Amino acid sequence: MNDTLKKAAVIGWPISHSKSPLIHGHWIKEFGINGHFERIALNPEEFVSGIRNLVAQGYQGCNITIPHKEAALDMADSISDRAKAIGAANTLVFKDGKIHADNTDGIGFINNLKQGAPSWQASGGTALVLGAGGAARAIIYALLQEGAPKIIIANRTVGKAHKLAAFFGDKVSATSMDGAANNLSETHTLVNTTALGMIGQPELAIDLSNLPKTALVTDIVYNPLQTALLKQADDLGLETVDGLGMLLHQAVPGFEAWFGVRPTVDKALRQIVLAG
Ligand code: NAP
Repeated sequence: MNDTLKKAAVIGWPISHSKSPLIHGHWIKEFGINGHFERIALNPEEFVSGIRNLVAQGYQGCNITIPHKEAALDMADSISDRAKAIGAANTLVFKDGKIHADNTDGIGFINNLKQGAPSWQASGGTALVLGAGGAARAIIYALLQEGAPKIIIANRTVGKAHKLAAFFGDKVSATSMDGAANNLSETHTLVNTTALGMIGQPELAIDLSNLPKTALVTDIVYNPLQTALLKQADDLGLETVDGLGMLLHQAVPGFEAWFGVRPTVDKALRQIVLAG
């Protein structure tokens, strides 16, 4: 029987906060896989040689987090279309000594909404995306792929929102954070991708009362799980989805590629990650 130990890891700098070992460790146990998943800290100087070492040691691949997502893309031998469009990689798969780069943040975002709000469809109307950083880029790409007819990006640094809108083309436009308020009445999907609302950060100051009653509100900040934005939306009777599921769903494609089984995101996994 060929049951050699399969190894994967999450790489970042720093990395001690990463929840990825809890997620992959849970699935390894669930499926009874002879597998191991660990955190590895690599600083920017040692990143490329560190990844080459993992390839040489027979690792299946790794997740990549801050600050290496662009460097991971640059060193890959092949790149998925979505990672190319997003301009960053969060998942590397090693095969025959080669590195394949993927980005699963966007699909993780979409699959979280599909699970948390089964009747929601990106094609149902305009998406208002607050923030224009790395996560916003992945989410905008995924929303467009899912058929969003129009996306408005609102960001503190408006120039960054304009640059991102120009990158994605005609369906995407930009405004300031204050300008976001003027677009609420036409919004079908409201997404916070800024760091605002996270523990230790200022609150996101936006009055949601002009959103249509059919709008969905989601926040990719998951610490706290119910951000003030989601609480306000709940109080208004709007459908909401929290951000923890995005983290869990983005891990699915990597696990499947490394360990050969497609895992599911369920309540037990949520509880483990929340408690960890
Ligand atoms: P990033 O590239 O650094 O972008 C940060 C964004 O937040 C920018 O749009 C920035 O605006 C905005 N921002 C930060 N502080 C602000 C403030 N005080 N006032 C107004 N806007 C502010 O970060 P990222 O990778 O996109 O991540 C953003 C957030 O998403 C983080 O909280 C991260 O933990 C979370 N996240 C969650 C998941 C998940 O799986 N749930 C995945 C990825 C990220 P400027 O452009 O004006 O600086």
